[in-house]
Amino acid sequence: MTAPLFDTVCLVGIGLINSSLARALRKHDLARRLVTLDISAEARDAALRLGIVDAATADAAEAVKGAGLVVVGTPVGAMEQVAAAIGPHLEPGTIVTDVGSVKIAVVRDLVPHLPDGVHFVPGHPIAGTEHSGPEAGFAELFAGRWTILTPLPGGDPKALEKVRALWSAIGAMVEEMDPHHHDQVLAITSHLPHLIAYTIVGTANDLEGHLQQEVIKFSASGFRDFTRIAASDPIMWRDIFLGNKEAVLEVIQRFTEDLTALQRAIRWGEGEVLEERFRETRAIRRAIIDAKQA
Ligand code: NAP
Repeated sequence: MTAPLFDTVCLVGIGLINSSLARALRKHDLARRLVTLDISAEARDAALRLGIVDAATADAAEAVKGAGLVVVGTPVGAMEQVAAAIGPHLEPGTIVTDVGSVKIAVVRDLVPHLPDGVHFVPGHPIAGTEHSGPEAGFAELFAGRWTILTPLPGGDPKALEKVRALWSAIGAMVEEMDPHHHDQVLAITSHLPHLIAYTIVGTANDLEGHLQQEVIKFSASGFRDFTRIAASDPIMWRDIFLGNKEAVLEVIQRFTEDLTALQRAIRWGEGEVLEERFRETRAIRRAIIDAKQA
């Protein structure tokens, strides 16, 4: 039998993502011991009750003691506070990674708190659901999905290889890119769609009472799909928009221009403009299905 990839793994924040990772690590025998550090007593209790970790604590020093890998999985706005709390207790050689949805802000917030000899490999699994907390996690969440790693210049290649090996072992496909590129790509593929969903559902909610009821009744006509996205965690998404401000503002500008062009086409009865656009977008959907990411 081969030895697990890691001895002790500490998961900071045992929500949807880290609880899924814990389940996957267990399923694939990749760690000997799993510990969680979480400020929520409810989340710690649930993680222990569900048997997805061996120990749960709110004490940073106790949590990272002996950990070969620390995975930061809190909302991105809390990550600086996490790094400040664990930093002084990290042992040389420890690998720190994260699962945050933005990368420039996370690198900026974590790096100053990590002591020399600790290797940081920023990461982001492109997988998730609109649910939060340890009960919502499942071991197969990352299988067949991409995980993006944004290694730092001059970072330790062995640490990068170990983090890559971990994601591959649980069935993820791994790609490397620089944090700036990551934030631009995610602004269009994830952040803008969420902002649009929050806006549409918010607009519907502001409609007068009788219209609002009809919106719910006839939601299957398109609105329903937006409500699923708009049900995503408010704290997590607040932090993502504040953490990826530049790229999101840029993509909103582009989107607004394109929306105005379609608005104009509708106003002037330019059916061919609409049809051409809709044909192009249909091809994108087909490409996603072909890439097995639907
Ligand atoms: P989640 O289910 O909301 O869980 C986060 C957990 O972290 C909660 O138990 C929370 O406790 C705890 N926490 C908050 N601040 C903390 C602190 N300072 N120290 C220790 N624990 C703390 O979150 P998630 O959906 O798993 O998301 C986690 C990260 O993954 C985020 O950075 C997000 O951007 C990223 N991500 C999410 C998705 C997705 O679809 N959900 C996909 C990819 C990446 P409280 O509840 O008491 O605050």
